[in-house]
Amino acid sequence: MFIVPEREIAALLTRDAAFEAVEKVFAAMAAEKACNFPVVREAIGHVDALYGFKGGFDRSALTLGLKAGGYWPHNLETKGVINHQSTVFLFDADTGMVRAMVGGNLLTALRTAAASSVSIRHLARADARVLGMIGAGHQAAFQLRAALEQRPFEKVIGWNLHPEMLPNIERVADEAGVSFEAVALEGMRDADVIITITSSFEAILQAAHVSPGTHLACMGTDTKGKQEVAADLLAAARVFTDEVAQSVSIGEAQHAVAQGLIAQADITQIGAVINDTHPGRSTAEEITLFDGTGVGLQDLAVAAAIVDLAIEKGVAIEVDF
Ligand code: NAD
Repeated sequence: MFIVPEREIAALLTRDAAFEAVEKVFAAMAAEKACNFPVVREAIGHVDALYGFKGGFDRSALTLGLKAGGYWPHNLETKGVINHQSTVFLFDADTGMVRAMVGGNLLTALRTAAASSVSIRHLARADARVLGMIGAGHQAAFQLRAALEQRPFEKVIGWNLHPEMLPNIERVADEAGVSFEAVALEGMRDADVIITITSSFEAILQAAHVSPGTHLACMGTDTKGKQEVAADLLAAARVFTDEVAQSVSIGEAQHAVAQGLIAQADITQIGAVINDTHPGRSTAEEITLFDGTGVGLQDLAVAAAIVDLAIEKGVAIEVDF
């Protein structure tokens, strides 16, 4: 088997490679060639940790495996390591033998950023020039860096509940040579694309904050109870997602569905747009919304790409197992 340690991932995985892997696996999911297995997530009753597995199988790429990991809230203060910890395991689909073990921490940020980027490429208006960011934490910087590559954006506008964190994303805009302005939520009306990436449990973005024709990539809501966008705003948009079952249970659509504002059948897998079996955005005035819940197959697809790159560059550690 091959081991690709966390320390190697930054040098191996480009944003392009992550984008390509995620776009391909979303397409395979919509073509019913790939499926995610039920997610396990448990409070383990030790150091307040949440631990679980996200797995799946892509029959077209023969990618089989799981990501194991979770959230240890006291890691940073007590051990000096980051709170989110995960590792991906890949298995040989023909034999069931373990093929690879890959560090999953940076991978998670890059695959999450790739997902919103895929949605921007396929659903945002071609003339989008102003990018709005709601959230300025760890993921937000990755999201912004990847999104800026999808359209010739001229300006980034940002809002965060904790404004002192905004320099985290201003720095990314500066590096990309794009101007940055902190705005009130009402200022988001100037945005053509808005990414939400917070750990909020209450709607931040209301219908009055969003102009016609905007594309929203809602990436923060990945658990029951979280919410970033008002249910009536979501219901007024054309809604796309990575996986419908997750969108209605743990994703941003959970609230509008629970309130009876939309039905599960109103939500389209983004893979259908990639495969050209759904037209995607239908008019320049339509609000499109991508509910990015995060699926195991994204992790596996990106991990498989990393293993190939690591073998090619001679940095994969081969173990007789
Ligand atoms: P972080 O702790 O680094 O940043 C949290 C962000 O949320 C900050 O902008 C903070 O100001 C904001 N925030 C915190 N509490 C808030 C509240 N009550 N109301 C509004 N905003 C609040 O976290 P992160 O690593 O950047 O992750 C952000 C979110 O993305 C989390 O909810 C995480 O679970 C989610 N996430 C989703 C995926 C996916 O695939 N969809 C993947 C990874 C992370």
